[in-house]
Amino acid sequence: MSAGNNQLQEHLRFAQELGVDGVSRDPAWRARAADDAPTEPPGPIGISIYKSPADALAAVRADIGDCTRCKLHRLGRRQIVFGVGNPSADLMFVGEAPGHDEDVQGIPFVGRAGQLLTKIIEAIGLSRDDVYIANVIKCRPPENRNPEQDEVETCEPFLFQQVDIIKPKVIVALGTFAARALLRTLDPISRLRGHVYEYRGAKLIPTFHPAYLLRNPASKREVWEDMKRVRALLQSS
Ligand code: URA
Repeated sequence: MSAGNNQLQEHLRFAQELGVDGVSRDPAWRARAADDAPTEPPGPIGISIYKSPADALAAVRADIGDCTRCKLHRLGRRQIVFGVGNPSADLMFVGEAPGHDEDVQGIPFVGRAGQLLTKIIEAIGLSRDDVYIANVIKCRPPENRNPEQDEVETCEPFLFQQVDIIKPKVIVALGTFAARALLRTLDPISRLRGHVYEYRGAKLIPTFHPAYLLRNPASKREVWEDMKRVRALLQSS
């Protein structure tokens, strides 16, 4: 079989596995005002004093505590959804905020979108235990509304700490909010994806959020292109 045929077969297997059909349309993502949020982590976390990345992550989690720093703590969140996976992962996924299932279980990406993310991870030969998964916002916004700017500004420093501890080679930003928070841009995901960015020592690849893929399955093709790039970057570094 030719290389082109091989690629096509691989593409089709991925599409079949994820159930690609339908026609894609970009979502009207709500624009968020430019922010000048400080990128430095809050609190006295000296990452280097910890014996292992797991210990350092535990210290960040302890620093968050039963957080009341933003209004989400009194808007119905059950618990903080910190992050899950390999503390030394080469690959990290960053989503937006927990939804209902994540709020109940305390684990990111366990609902329908999460199940699709798991398939995407497995499609490049990895498991959830190999990677690290976290969100920009650690508490569920009410009714799954979009995170508000003050909530993002308050919470994102903890994500930056997670990135600095884990030191992934590749970060996949899932959807507009994650890409905007990490890249400090107001561009929509449709413009950001398809490119590789340098970010805190890692290669950052923005791609569509799995929840968007559930509504627009045809866009799984682009996500597969992005994931092939992720796989190549992991293999080359
Ligand atoms: N969507 C997200 O962005 N994060 C989750 O953890 C679940 C759904």
